[in-house]
Amino acid sequence: MVIVFFGPPGSGKGTQSQELGKTIKDLIHVSTGDLLRQEIASASELGHRLKSKIEAGEFVTDDIIVQLVSGILRKNVKKDIIFDGFPRTLQQAIAFDTLLGVENLKVDVVFDFDIDVHVVIERVTGRYMCLGCGAVYHKKNKKPKVDSVCDQCGGIRFVERKDDSVDVLETRLKIYQEETLPVKKYYGDKGVLKRIDASLSPDEVTCFIKTALLEAGLIRRGE
Ligand code: AMP
Repeated sequence: MVIVFFGPPGSGKGTQSQELGKTIKDLIHVSTGDLLRQEIASASELGHRLKSKIEAGEFVTDDIIVQLVSGILRKNVKKDIIFDGFPRTLQQAIAFDTLLGVENLKVDVVFDFDIDVHVVIERVTGRYMCLGCGAVYHKKNKKPKVDSVCDQCGGIRFVERKDDSVDVLETRLKIYQEETLPVKKYYGDKGVLKRIDASLSPDEVTCFIKTALLEAGLIRRGE
């Protein structure tokens, strides 16, 4: 099963990927943003080159992204995967279909996380994450249960993403409109797009996704 989570920054794609990963057995979550941040953290030559682009909210080139995804696919053939934040351009979507075709796979469903831009700004500008495990919190809406201690790994070091500042977010939203929205039409034309009201609570969104996967026969009851 190949699922794509499509939507602007702050629409809840990462949160939902983590939630589904907890309940659907052997489901792999691939966030190209996370992979790029790992590359930067590893202090590799590539990471060094990508850092300023990502911190400015600009896109990494299609070649680099497609190569990353190609490597992941080769290592995880036959696994159920959620792609979060990929594809983000029409070229990536077309290249993705080619890569999947080689493995006799296709995109089964694309969840379109539909959300108002004002909610996005509110969500993104207050978020921070655990340095240990990447769990995401929000200053107002989602604090750890114990103050300054990560619910997931017990970590006590947190960080705000540089690209979550208001200025950079504006750039990211503009690029989203220009580069990423055409991908929605691409999947709409293929008949695999499913709209989600991403302003609902995280539990409601999880329930919606699981029901849709169940109805499509992609997961079994109890998962
Ligand atoms: P995200 O964590 O998904 O918000 O991604 C963080 C940043 O990584 C983006 O703002 C881009 O700079 C870069 N990035 C992640 N995924 C992609 C992609 N599929 N194509 C181009 N750039 C990407």
